[in-house]
Parts: sequence; structure tokens; C-alpha cells
Amino acid sequence: MPTNLFKFDNSYLQLPEGFYSKIRPTTLQKAELLLFNEELAAQLDISFGSATDFIAALQAEDPQNPAFAQAYAGHQFSSFTRLGDGRAVVLGEQLTSVGQRFDIQVKGSGRTPYSRGGDGKATVYAMLREYLISEAMFHLGVPTSRSLAVFKTGETVYRQTNNEGAALLRVMESHIRVGTFQFASFLGKEGDLEALLHYTIERLYPHLAGCENPALALFHEVMNRQIDLVVHWMRVGFIHGVMNTDNSSVSGESFDYGPCAFMNAYHPATVYSSIDEQGRYAFGNQPNIIKWNLARFAEALLPLMAPEKEAAIALAQDALDAFDARWKRQYQGMMLHKLGIEATETAHFALVEQLLDLMEQQQLDFTNTFATLLPGHQTGLTLPENEAFQSWYANWQKVIITSSSCERASELMAANNPLYIPRNHLVEEALEAANKGSLEPFETMLRVVRQPYTYRSGLEKFRQGAEPQFEEAYQTFCGT
Ligand code: AMP
Ligand code: MG
Repeated sequence: MPTNLFKFDNSYLQLPEGFYSKIRPTTLQKAELLLFNEELAAQLDISFGSATDFIAALQAEDPQNPAFAQAYAGHQFSSFTRLGDGRAVVLGEQLTSVGQRFDIQVKGSGRTPYSRGGDGKATVYAMLREYLISEAMFHLGVPTSRSLAVFKTGETVYRQTNNEGAALLRVMESHIRVGTFQFASFLGKEGDLEALLHYTIERLYPHLAGCENPALALFHEVMNRQIDLVVHWMRVGFIHGVMNTDNSSVSGESFDYGPCAFMNAYHPATVYSSIDEQGRYAFGNQPNIIKWNLARFAEALLPLMAPEKEAAIALAQDALDAFDARWKRQYQGMMLHKLGIEATETAHFALVEQLLDLMEQQQLDFTNTFATLLPGHQTGLTLPENEAFQSWYANWQKVIITSSSCERASELMAANNPLYIPRNHLVEEALEAANKGSLEPFETMLRVVRQPYTYRSGLEKFRQGAEPQFEEAYQTFCGT
């Protein structure tokens, strides 16, 4: 295979110096390649002759484009903290032949100036988990960071017990976060916020460059992206688990797959994260939290919205006031699509509410309930036979018949209702096997989640939720 490795152009280093620290990963000396994402590599124009060449390229310094860790801040739960990449470095920004730019970040890179008390490391378990979930999200059609490779580092990483160390190559359109703006606004120097605003617009939203009020225009754009993103999460039953402002990207990509999980039985209060005792990031609270994070974003942008503080606050408040109507429109439209009804037919939204109520009362599986409604689909699953559900079903059928053509309804439902999600108990099984040295269950799981909308016989096991005892006890951890 011809070797075509990185073509970096680290534009982030144009920002004032406080935004980053130049530092190289220190964990790759004895790296051993565990997984490599061929499809993503092709999209990035990366190919290599052997794993050894690839690892050597990761370690090679490019003096024109040094690697760096990013500084940022963020509200973690609700307290504001100075943060930064404590265990990650951006190796470089890869420019593709079609002019796209992607951050290539090493996660589990070793300590950086932002590590605080942390060891800067990551485990095989956690990095494989991030690889799997990000692949699942991508193929579900959710904007997301992606994973190019996982390496074993040969180090031992202590997390309650000793674990094998790993590093992940994470790919994102950009790692600029709401927390990067908070850093610039509240902890930066004179001119930092303005520099970040202009950099972000040039890099991610060049069509906003000529706007009269670029800060306000950026706010609107990011708000819309974040709404669309969380609508996708609600569509596929995803719970991010730790949607702090440092984990909210300005590009609208989901990232930082720590304590995240997919919901099985529907309940809006579902939480898996072991550190989320109050349910702040529960499934049904995700729209409220994203609105809260956007309010923090608006706060950070205030000095650039208008010269007078009061005028700036009025503009920000107006902008934020548009959230509820936009959320409602996008969310309702998406849920109607899941039932095969056009987004504009909002009079039928009661059907969605009734179905969610039934699912909650009867503890029905979120993914399978919608999948089983798919017309003419060989789902191999059956709908509940109780009267309440059957009566809802009859009402829905009446609406479907009159509201759009059968083909259109089928098309909408097939595109919005996945058949396969990464089931928590199977994810754990696959990771346990990988930890013991067998990647086979992990590779099988990857194949399943890479075609979430296509029915394949023989995969029944991947459509079953776990036993209730497993679900009740299942907890996911941050920073593993
Ligand atoms: P996260 O919860 O992964 O978004 O991380 C929150 C903050 O803690 C970020 O600034 C991370 O870089 C930092 N962090 C997480 N794990 C570690 C670690 N093992 N060593 C150093 N910093 C870490
Ligand atoms: Mg984070």
C-alpha cells in the first residue's frame, strides 16, 4: 500500500499563546496497534505500509506544525472550573484533498500542563468503548467525533485496579468547546475572546464572516446545531451522561464518550452515570441542559455582542428565547417522523405523547417498540397485546392511512428508527473479552452497529435488552 500519512496545518496555533501548550504525546513509545478504522482513514487521505510506519509517523515531530494541548474552562455539573486537555494532545489538523480540516487528537497521551492531579492516561477498556460508541453514533446518523485507531501503550494504568493502558486517535471537525469561549472570556487576556470568535467563524462557519454582529450570529448557529444534535440523541435513545460546557462542541458534534449509554426500557429519568446522582444529565433532561449550556455560551460572548452590557444582555436573552420554539419544532418533527407522520402534522403529536406514556408505564424497550412498528418489516419482535397498547395502535393506524402515502411513512420510519444500538450488556461482554485478549466479540459488535438500519437475520441477540437486574446495576464511569 502506498504510504500517505499526515498532512498537517495547525491553524489553532494562530490563536494567542494562552489557548494552548505545545507538548508531544509521551505514551506511544511502545505502542502496539489494536484497531484501525480503514474507512475513516480513506476519508482523511491517510494510508500506510505497516503499523510500524504508522506509529513512527505519529511520533515524528513536524517542526512547522507542533502538537499541542488545548486550554479551556467549563461548568462541570454546575461549578465553573479551569480545565484543559489533561490527557490529550492535538497531534495536528489534517487537511484532506477536498479541503476538509480535521483535528487528529491523541487521547491518553500522557500528562500535560492541564493534567491537575490526573495521570494523563487512559485504559484499553475506556478507549475501545469510545471507539465503539462513536462508530455506532456515526452510522446512526448523529454528528460525532470519530475514532481512527486504538493502541495499547504497554503501560499499566491504575483505576481501582491495574488496567492495560491505551491511546485513542480521535478525529473531529474541531475541538472548540463552549468551555473554550468561557476560558477566553473569563480567564483570558484582552483580545482573546475576539481572536477566538474570528478563528471559530473562519474555521467552522465562514458564511458568518460578513455578519453585522458576528458574536450573535455565531450564537444562533451553535444553538441550532446543538438543538439538532440533542434531537438526534433523543431519536436514538442516547444519554451523554456528562454534558458539561467543556463537552459541548461549538461544531455541534457529540464527543467525549465517558459515562454515556443507550437507554433500553423507556423512562425519561434514565441515568447510567455513576456520578450523576441528581439526574442532571438524565435522558429527558438533555434539552434543559443544552439550553443551560447555551446560556453559559451567551454569557461568555456578551462582551462581543454589544458595547453596553445591558444592550448585550438584551440581545443574548432574545437569542436564547428562541430556543424553546426551535426545540419544540425540531423535536416534535423528529418524533412524528419516527411514527411515519410528516413533521408539519403537529396536531398528531398527541400520538407520540401517548406512546411515550405507554412505554414508560409498561417499561417497553425504546428502540424495539419503534422498530416493531415498521410496516412490513421482518423484525422478529412482537407488539404488546394489552388493550391500552392495541387501542393506541389502532388510532395510529388510522392517522397513518390518511396522513401520508404508505411508501412515505415507511421511508420516514426506516430512516429514523434503528434496529440495532450498542446494547449495554453486550458492550460490556465485548469489552470484557477484549480485556482478556479476544477482540472477536468486539469486532462482531462493530459490524452490527455499523449497519443500524438494516435488518439481518441471525442477529436476534443484538436486539434484546439486558435482564432488569443488569440494567438496574449498570453504571458507567467518567475519566476511566
Ligand atoms: P472529561 O470528564 O473526560 O471531560 O474530563 C474533564 C477534565 O479532566 C478534562 O480537562 C480532562 O482532560 C481531565 N482529565 C480526565 N481524565 C484525566 C486523566 N486521567 N489525567 C489528566 N486529566 C484528566
Ligand atoms: Mg471532556
